[in-house]
Amino acid sequence: MRAALERYGREKNTTGPRPKETIREQVRARLSLAVGGTIMQSISASLSKGTLKSAPLLDPPIATGLTESINKIYDIVLKHGPVSREEWGQLPALFRRVRHLLRVYYDTVFTHRKTVEFKFCDMKDMSDVGLKLHECGLFLQLSPGRLSACLSSAPDLETFIFDDPIDLGRWRLEAAATEQAVKADPEADDDDRERALELEDKSGNDLAAYQLSFFLGDVLVAFLINPANDNKDKARQAKAMGRLVMMSTTPLYRLAFGDALTDAMRPVYWTPKVLVRFSHAGGLPALVEDWAESTLKDGLCKTAMEKLPGKAWAHQTPESLLGIMRGLIRKLEFEGDDFAETPLFVNILHQIYSRYGLEPFERASHLSDFEIIFYFLHRRLSKKPEKYQSAHEWLPLLKKYRNVPGATRKRHGWMILTISGRWDLLAMCGYGCGYTECPETSALLRLKEARVRGKRDPVVEDRLFQWGGASKACARCKAVSYCGAACQKADWKRHKSECAAEAAKNKNEEI
Ligand SMILES: [Zn+2]
Ligand SMILES: [Zn+2]
Repeated sequence: MRAALERYGREKNTTGPRPKETIREQVRARLSLAVGGTIMQSISASLSKGTLKSAPLLDPPIATGLTESINKIYDIVLKHGPVSREEWGQLPALFRRVRHLLRVYYDTVFTHRKTVEFKFCDMKDMSDVGLKLHECGLFLQLSPGRLSACLSSAPDLETFIFDDPIDLGRWRLEAAATEQAVKADPEADDDDRERALELEDKSGNDLAAYQLSFFLGDVLVAFLINPANDNKDKARQAKAMGRLVMMSTTPLYRLAFGDALTDAMRPVYWTPKVLVRFSHAGGLPALVEDWAESTLKDGLCKTAMEKLPGKAWAHQTPESLLGIMRGLIRKLEFEGDDFAETPLFVNILHQIYSRYGLEPFERASHLSDFEIIFYFLHRRLSKKPEKYQSAHEWLPLLKKYRNVPGATRKRHGWMILTISGRWDLLAMCGYGCGYTECPETSALLRLKEARVRGKRDPVVEDRLFQWGGASKACARCKAVSYCGAACQKADWKRHKSECAAEAAKNKNEEI
């Protein structure tokens, strides 16, 4: 879902507003970036059968329905001329009504049962809900006077923005709980994993939180970028910061808000001063992950990463560093190992090491069972910790990472996998034994089939562990590994022809 962001050019605009633009013009310019992504969003939703025709739009629209509520909010927030206290006072109830009707609509997407309330979900195109509210949020963000008048006339709106629990819907929560359970269950099998994935896929069609996150994001960002005039403003600023960091770094929220929140976060990303404060409050993982997931090579997130002032790296916690490193692993997964040699990547790692030393590298070495860059770096750094104090020592080290043989990576991955993860990879080529007719692989596959839930067999599990863990790579090319000498010998006739070529191709780097 998130990937829709840059593909449609939302990221093209890497700087803030141009001078002399009126507020309404600025809002329109920001919105045009969001529209492309939303078109992408509705296309992908309709392809995944996640759409449902909304209730018919009557003329005039049904009272207290989605269309009428959105129109009322819009007319109040964007009203030409002053807005009365009474008008502002209507907003909290209208927003909660919209949130409730979004829930009704997206629950119907899943249950296919239309309740009596469904007739109020009368929006021709559901993505208009998010966009209209985005327009309102941007307008308030760019007119701080109006925003503070709004909040002091309708204090309950402040509760809606800062304190109300975020409605993720039961499907997303269920998918997350299932995923957790499968991860924690040593006996989970492929069917369990498949069910968990299916559920996650399905829950992605619940866009209730997504539609609201434009507006929530815009208003929270407003408090970060506009100066605080009094103590009340300062308290709001602190609260907004905490909520925004939570929304943009918690995996479950990131999944639900997708590129809508990234779009709302632009002003944070293009204002270095604000970005430094956001980073110190724990938000840096959000930028790194948005950058990692961005499909556009030269977009806003990349520019923000490149222009990130060095001091943004201060005050990171073990938790935020782990989030940052998780993002870096994703970036390598998307871009390939060569990316580790780019000046930006080199600088990030140097920043982390020079401030926080070895520890974050050790903690991150268990993050991925295949992209083992932090395992590799931790091993190398521990050998000569002083050598890597200056930035220019880092590039040669990172250049070596691409030469770590696949067999070494898999062996390391095998060590940190859970027992169910190992059963999972048994049939996958390249783990344990490269000989296609390996008798031990077939024997273990039969044992896998015969497994019974609730009955674990330590002897069998140890056999599986040995099979993958003790595997030895071909000494010459290190491109292929075997569970034992017999398999290596049996495979030599086939492997001989590719071995020399592999050996010449690979400059093997042991860890
Ligand atoms: Zn074998
Ligand atoms: Zn070989």
